[in-house]
Amino acid sequence: METFIQTYQDYRKKIKAYRYFGWLMSWDQETEAPDASIEYRTKQYQVMAEELYKIESAPEYIDAIDHLYASLDRIQDTDLRTEIKHAYKQLRVIKLVPKDELIAHQVLVSQAPHTWAKAKNENNFEMFRPTLEKIVEFNRKLVKYLETPELKGYDILLDEYEEGFTQKEYDLFFDTLKRELVPFVKEVTAVKQKFSRKLTHSVFPRESQIKFSQYLIDVFHYDRSRGLLKESAHPFTSGVSSTDTRITTHYYENNLVSSIFSTIHEMGHAIYELQNDPKYDDTFLHGGTSLGIHESQSRMYENMLGRSMAFWKVHYPKLVELFPKQLKQVSLEEFHRYINRAERSLIRTEADELTYALHVMVRYELEKGMISGKIKVKDLPKKWNKLMGEFVGIKPKTDKEGVLQDVHWSGGMLGYFPTYALGSAYAAQMYQAMNKELDIEEALSSNNIPAINAWLKEHVHQFASSKSPKEILLIATKEAFNPMYYVNYLKNKFQR
Ligand code: ZN
Repeated sequence: METFIQTYQDYRKKIKAYRYFGWLMSWDQETEAPDASIEYRTKQYQVMAEELYKIESAPEYIDAIDHLYASLDRIQDTDLRTEIKHAYKQLRVIKLVPKDELIAHQVLVSQAPHTWAKAKNENNFEMFRPTLEKIVEFNRKLVKYLETPELKGYDILLDEYEEGFTQKEYDLFFDTLKRELVPFVKEVTAVKQKFSRKLTHSVFPRESQIKFSQYLIDVFHYDRSRGLLKESAHPFTSGVSSTDTRITTHYYENNLVSSIFSTIHEMGHAIYELQNDPKYDDTFLHGGTSLGIHESQSRMYENMLGRSMAFWKVHYPKLVELFPKQLKQVSLEEFHRYINRAERSLIRTEADELTYALHVMVRYELEKGMISGKIKVKDLPKKWNKLMGEFVGIKPKTDKEGVLQDVHWSGGMLGYFPTYALGSAYAAQMYQAMNKELDIEEALSSNNIPAINAWLKEHVHQFASSKSPKEILLIATKEAFNPMYYVNYLKNKFQR
């Protein structure tokens, strides 16, 4: 037993080091690397991916995991036990998927975001189509290799990102949203709200936006010694440990609030990982337990804290100071109404809180169809536009604003999107629970975000991946998942 544990830990150390270098490469690729560097970098990446594969598939390592899994009950350390369970589950990929196919896919998805970005830039779906077809084809084969008596097809991919959530559960969740939200959104967005041209037609200089994002870092106590903020095409968070978790945002000079809420959103993700118990840094348990729980944190920071009146009462003066000409005649009340407006829009990442989940629903239906084979990649643009019309009530005129808008599929991630909607629903449930123990409005009014960070650390963040999404939700809210918290929260907030 002790020997197997030792072997396991030795391999873990090596794997974590290789993954760290891969992580650094991809961080560089997304933030700083010049365009022409892709070919050279891909060559190096391929060598490293092969080396990592050798380590992860070494018979000695697999044997150690198999042995430890077979005698799980005898492992005293509960964290190690959880890790072995996860490792055993992940090993299925190495055991069941042919090596050539796996490596070819890894290389493909390391290049694909570049192809996607170009295609999006040029509004040319055809340019991205062959790559996406290969990605979908791989995933359709993958689910065949990995199927079990319980899980088949799209369920395999969904379970990867949110343990325990299958099509059956998501269908129920999304049916609730279709029933409760689609008609409600039509009602709320029927009257178009008007806002000062100062908010909608001004130019907001990049330099001042950068200053405000830097100010927000201090407001939220996102630790500068353990994180940093850069710019990328699509904002994201990327981290390896409780000492290094980085974020990006994107500045648009014709849109003041986009960078603000991207920065707050990504800080929600980053603070979650930075507040993981440091004892998990050298294990595979560091990081969020699932995408849904991860997204619940970012959505809570962005929407529930970051768009509240209590928050802006404190911080609006700073924003006015940075944009004096543009905001001089815009009252706090009007600004608050503006950042909480609900409207039919095209871009998911820019969508408001009310319509957001409906954008996700479009992607859920399409992924389900692609994996089952009912929807072909070549038909995606047409299908996309049709579903947008049905759910959100608006159709894109270009693929850049439609099917090409998200990076995820190019990274090989199918089954990921639905967790975004789930995250918002978790957040609503957690907010209710936190508010019983902590006066959140009072904390925001007194600029005491550390009190909120501390509650979340104790009830959610510290556990990292040592507990499942369902266990975390139970610890934090003392009850099982209930999507009606989310529906009621939205109806209460957006009822006109
Ligand atoms: Zn997010």
